[in-house]
Amino acid sequence: MGLQDELVRVEAEAARLRREIAAGPCREHGHDWKSYGGKNAGCGPDCGCSVPVNVCAKCGDCDYGENDEAEAVRTDCSAQSN
Ligand SMILES: [Zn+2]
Ligand SMILES: [Zn+2]
Repeated sequence: MGLQDELVRVEAEAARLRREIAAGPCREHGHDWKSYGGKNAGCGPDCGCSVPVNVCAKCGDCDYGENDEAEAVRTDCSAQSN
């Protein structure tokens, strides 16, 4: 194997490792959610509830307000309006 081939192989491996560092830990251990702000819960037309939106500190993924806390807010809201 020539040095050029070796370099290509090593660079491909490095790219794989970078993706693994960015995505691997989240896949294995879950995202490291950090609060990013909030958005309307959207549980009803007259609803003013807001739910937290989180962004992962490790990979930059966003949950767009789809999380346990948001689920609890919507459950509370429908319980109160009934
Ligand atoms: Zn993540
Ligand atoms: Zn609501």
